[in-house]
Amino acid sequence: MSPAPLDRRTELAAGLARVRQRITSAAQAAGRGPDDVQLVVVTKFFPASDLRLLAELGVSDVGENRHQEAEAKAAECADLGLRWHFIGALQSNKAAAVARYADVVESLDRAKLVAALARGAQERGGPVEILLQVSLDPPEARGRAGAKPDELARLAELVAAHESLSLRGLMAVAPPREEPIEAFERLASIRAEFLREHPSAGWLSAGMSGDLEQAISVGATHVRVGSAILGLRPRIK
Ligand SMILES: *Cc1c(COP(=O)(O)O)cnc(C)c1O
Repeated sequence: MSPAPLDRRTELAAGLARVRQRITSAAQAAGRGPDDVQLVVVTKFFPASDLRLLAELGVSDVGENRHQEAEAKAAECADLGLRWHFIGALQSNKAAAVARYADVVESLDRAKLVAALARGAQERGGPVEILLQVSLDPPEARGRAGAKPDELARLAELVAAHESLSLRGLMAVAPPREEPIEAFERLASIRAEFLREHPSAGWLSAGMSGDLEQAISVGATHVRVGSAILGLRPRIK
């Protein structure tokens, strides 16, 4: 038997309350207001029924990282008024499709994706907000998602050339084998330099279940939190 919906609702409400409290405390410790940090609840692997409960509990922003799953859930939950953040690896042949339902694409990391995203955004008839994903890996370990810091200027220029795309800022994931705070301090200085050229692109999406405090301490405006709210993701779908 599947658990009664009321139990899941209670579970999600408790997870949300804990995470909201962590955000508030971290913001306070950093001398920032709790409203300076937007919670994006990462719902990948979890069913549309959870999204419905989260919306009822006041969640406005959700994140997904796999195109097919995200597209299906966005259609199924179209009545909920959620803002959809795409936070996963983008394939160039899927980028236009992602921009048709994602309100925010956080993972733009190479030039090849820009035109396709712009086309998808235009087809949906509204601007799509864009974050450039920057890699915090040491140079010898690169190859994972994310542009190199010195590629950001060119990417930003390409995005700015499209009216259907709205450049908002940067996104990053802390590398696994390093203290998150060290990586996030590098991120803060990359961002400071980026802001000199793009002062209106002030969003910084950083911090997940395990490191949201460290991200908020360096200025994150968006945290992407999954397991601390929804529980452990199933290993296989
Ligand atoms: C899955 C995912 C998250 C959420 O991770 P949790 O540790 O479950 O909070 C955040 N950001 C990205 C890019 C992800 O893929």
